Amino acid sequence: MFSLRRIWLAVTMTLLGSVISFGQSTKDHKWAVVLHGGAGVIARSSMTPEAEAQYRAGIKEALDAAASVLDKGGSSLDAVEAAIKLLEDNPLFNAGRGAVFAADGTNQLDAAIMDGKTMQAGAVADVQRTRHPISLARAVMEQSPHVMLIGAGADAFAAHVHLEQVPPAFFFTERRWHSLVDELKKEGSPIPPRPEGAPAPPTHPIAFFETPDSHKFGTVGVVALDRDGNVAAGTSTGGTTGKRWNRVGDSPIIGAGTYASNQSCAVSATGTGEYFIRLTVARTICALVQYKGMPLQDAADQVVQKELAAIHGDGGVIALTPDGQLAWSFNTPGMFRAKVAEGGKAQIGIFRDEP
Ligand code: ASP
Repeated sequence: MFSLRRIWLAVTMTLLGSVISFGQSTKDHKWAVVLHGGAGVIARSSMTPEAEAQYRAGIKEALDAAASVLDKGGSSLDAVEAAIKLLEDNPLFNAGRGAVFAADGTNQLDAAIMDGKTMQAGAVADVQRTRHPISLARAVMEQSPHVMLIGAGADAFAAHVHLEQVPPAFFFTERRWHSLVDELKKEGSPIPPRPEGAPAPPTHPIAFFETPDSHKFGTVGVVALDRDGNVAAGTSTGGTTGKRWNRVGDSPIIGAGTYASNQSCAVSATGTGEYFIRLTVARTICALVQYKGMPLQDAADQVVQKELAAIHGDGGVIALTPDGQLAWSFNTPGMFRAKVAEGGKAQIGIFRDEP
């Protein structure tokens, strides 16, 4: 009898405990996501309606993927990774397949991810064989004691943790190859041989999607807030066309192109990386929020419109806070961008004059 009573008591306490802990669950935040697909001289006049529609569709697909993860109660990290993987596979964007070429004719991919809850981070630079650099950045964060791996070592680690490896020509697109050739011709620099395994050069007149992208835009980034109130940020890029000497931009540098902390905000940047590194753009925005109590939009504008512009840096950021403030700010004619918060309508923009 006594033991039956004890069992009954234990069961009641457990049930009560789970009700109480459910009641205390932090799953009462409204989820939100903001993403970018690069900033630059994006003019209506230089984009066909067909091209514009494809860009908007690519952005929407990634936004929906992140929203679907968050709506099911998934983590901000999972949302960031899911959306960026799609953008890395989309040849329109300068990340994964569709990345720009370095001067030696290779695609050198950079990516970073940061978890605002734990402030753990993972980053990779000059990856050439891993299909999804963002997943590799996450593996560095979760499965290694390090924050940043580069070059062949980073690809070797990817293989070690069973991430999909592809031949370098997987990342090849005709359009980015033309951009490199154009750039090198302008400089009077030697043109490297067409990469091994790349498709034969087209003999037909090329469509918009194969014409050179002289503006070099297309880096991708996502920031997300989940129902537990945790923020995360991720960025993935091929860097800048014709880069040399294993140049690394801001995207994989924690605090420059990517940053997330539940104490302040999550940021992903795009633009000419050298300026973003000098200003530690992402961390500076979050520091203004954290230490000065600035509204997120004001902090983003302060850094992008004033400080970055003052040193002639071009580009933009997307950002969000754990309390649900969403922002973007860019000082270029355009930035591929989108945002949505739980219960709200998705907003997608390309040109400066859009809301
Ligand atoms: N920020 C990237 C880099 O400098 C490029 C870009 O965002 O367009 O590598």
